[in-house]
Amino acid sequence: MARSEQKQSAILYQCMKCGATVKSTDLDLGVRCPFCRYRVLIKVRPPIVKRIKAR
Ligand SMILES: [Zn+2]
Repeated sequence: MARSEQKQSAILYQCMKCGATVKSTDLDLGVRCPFCRYRVLIKVRPPIVKRIKAR
């Protein structure tokens, strides 16, 4: 539980072929699906939960 690698700049990609979601931080050599090596990925915006401070 000591992992806190949540970067806000991480972008999620979804493979157009197999539908797998890949983080931009996991992409080493450009945008490519690590599972099927398909090169067409679309950007997916992850649902960001914003906390609203009520004060
Ligand atoms: Zn794929």
